[in-house]
Amino acid sequence: MTEHRELFVLENGGIIIDTPGMKEPGVTDDGDGITATFKDIHELAQRCRFPDCRHMGEAGCAVIEAVNNGSVSRESYENYLKIQKEQERFQSTVAEKRKRDKQFGKLVKTYYKIKNRSDPE
Ligand SMILES: [Zn+2]
Repeated sequence: MTEHRELFVLENGGIIIDTPGMKEPGVTDDGDGITATFKDIHELAQRCRFPDCRHMGEAGCAVIEAVNNGSVSRESYENYLKIQKEQERFQSTVAEKRKRDKQFGKLVKTYYKIKNRSDPE
């Protein structure tokens, strides 16, 4: 997935801003998606020994334990990991986008400041 935004300043002082439509993956951005869909596993996850447990083989993981004793199917477990991973990826994408937008906004502001100074109306 690629999305970018560019600003070109032309030699004659013109400005071109290229803003292709942002395509976002189809995962909710509120973090509640996992809770609703995988409520059982999510509840088990609260009982893991480590609060930052990723349920991928850590000691004292309540989710792995439930998979091993059959109370959670391996399929649900794998789906849970998959969605968790997608959610993380999506959240970092959003964070990066916000950061880029902020930098981009600054760039535009600086550009207009310079332009207005050298070319008052
Ligand atoms: Zn765990």
